Amino acid sequence: MSQEWNLRSRGHVCSICQQPLEDRAKVVSALKEAQGGYERRDCHAECWAAETRDWTPFSQWDGIYLAPVKEEKKEALKKEDAGELLRKLVTLDDPAMKNVVYVLAVMLERGKILVERDAKPQEDGTILRVYEDRKNGDTFVILDPRLRLENLGEVQQQVVALLSGTKTLGEVSAEEETGETAQPQTA
Ligand SMILES: [Zn+2]
Repeated sequence: MSQEWNLRSRGHVCSICQQPLEDRAKVVSALKEAQGGYERRDCHAECWAAETRDWTPFSQWDGIYLAPVKEEKKEALKKEDAGELLRKLVTLDDPAMKNVVYVLAVMLERGKILVERDAKPQEDGTILRVYEDRKNGDTFVILDPRLRLENLGEVQQQVVALLSGTKTLGEVSAEEETGETAQPQTA
């Protein structure tokens, strides 16, 4: 199984004309279902409009391409740590961590680090949400397990424990697996 199917970085050249994307260019981003996950395409809005396609995107959104910038702000350190943690968790793809991954993504969305681009209800009542990193354009496909409200606080505490380093990923994963904490909502 692919370990990183749910993290796709934004391209820096147009997927259609292969020319570099200029800073602040209007782009259309799309996820195309492919074997083992998704292919991501980032295209000039004009190229996308002109292209003839024989496939339907899993998800598609309009955005503005921002050229990468060198980091120098120290005050953003804490938030970047949370972003790094999400990246690590998404790459690990540990089913026991799905509640933690989702709550962390929501925290990053509230912190204006991520923006939700799409939501795809699944047959089992869960929702696949597509989040995009506002700064570097990376895409995360995150399972929304439809947590019960009363379980949210517990999961938030686990996220805080991970961010502050008082618990390791392994410890939290073990707690989740043994069901000491939140159970997903059953419809
Ligand atoms: Zn193009």
